[in-house]
Amino acid sequence: MNILHEFEYFKPKSKNEALQLVKDLGSKAKILAGGTDLVIMMKEKMIKPDVIIDISDLEELKGIKCEKGKGAEILACTKIDEIEFSTELSKKYPALTYAASQLGSNQVRVMATLGGNSCHSSPAAETPAPLAALGARVVLASLEGERELAMEDFIHGNRKNDLKEGEILYKFILPEPAKNSACRYGHIGLRNAMEIDCANMAAAVELEEDKETIKNVKLVMGSVAIKPLVSQAVPSLLAGKKLTDDLVTKAGEAAQSEAKPISDVRASAEYRKDVIGALARRLVKEAYEAAKEA
Ligand SMILES: Cc1cc2nc3c(=O)[nH]c(=O)nc-3n(C[C@H](O)[C@H](O)[C@H](O)COP(=O)(O)OP(=O)(O)OC[C@H]3O[C@@H](n4cnc5c(N)ncnc54)[C@H](O)[C@@H]3O)c2cc1C
Repeated sequence: MNILHEFEYFKPKSKNEALQLVKDLGSKAKILAGGTDLVIMMKEKMIKPDVIIDISDLEELKGIKCEKGKGAEILACTKIDEIEFSTELSKKYPALTYAASQLGSNQVRVMATLGGNSCHSSPAAETPAPLAALGARVVLASLEGERELAMEDFIHGNRKNDLKEGEILYKFILPEPAKNSACRYGHIGLRNAMEIDCANMAAAVELEEDKETIKNVKLVMGSVAIKPLVSQAVPSLLAGKKLTDDLVTKAGEAAQSEAKPISDVRASAEYRKDVIGALARRLVKEAYEAAKEA
């Protein structure tokens, strides 16, 4: 039965109070942000925390700061729908706002938070791949202070991440997009419905001054490994070259060769490999064309 077990409930009024509770209660407690992953896990008896620390209403943990020339900061409890509809973010980081728009349904997006999407650390999550491709850094806070790490180093595997006892995810820092660059996101699910992705990907391309030669590529794949997978092969294939149809095909093959998907209820490993090839071909080309116009 989907009845929740008994637990103690705290609703701190400040970030510091939340950090004190997290420190004092340790592994007995679970943070609740939007609850769209946590409550389901509790209802399904996958976890039975003794204590819930509800940070969903903490204004100190919500908001988007996006200034011209200065990148952006997104606080952990910012709702996914605020990211989806942020005009400032969509101008600079369309890959992220598009990914946000693809997460679940309207009802989910008004509750779910950006921090929760990373902290749940599902390999199929929508936002870690674009965040990583955009060069985002994650800031973790505790009573002892803050520490910062690259998005791709934060997630270690399915429901595993770098959070230590006493820490919460505080915010994401996104660098200002480089000149002549663009990032694009894509995903494939089995149905055109509220479906968890069978694979997703973000590709960021930066061009040289001539707006044709590729300077840098960062391609991040989701749902094909235990954590977001940053391609090594695609950047070394494309850097220093002008994109051709042949290179696009090879980029697809290179991404496929790195992907290590599993077969599960959502897709077979073979199908996921095909999808990765198709996404890489499409997104590299789209990001390259967009970077020319940037
Ligand atoms: C119907 C449905 C459809 C969905 N579809 C998608 C989808 O298409 N794509 C997708 O990616 N996800 C999807 N999800 C999953 C979910 O909505 C997202 O992962 C969401 O972003 C989780 O955020 P939350 O705020 O609800 O997290 P919560 O459920 O509150 O928390 C999730 C986990 O993160 C921890 N946590 C949360 N915030 C912090 C913090 N600041 N610091 C430390 N720990 C923290 C919690 O303790 C918990 O372990 C779906 C969920 C539902 C119910």
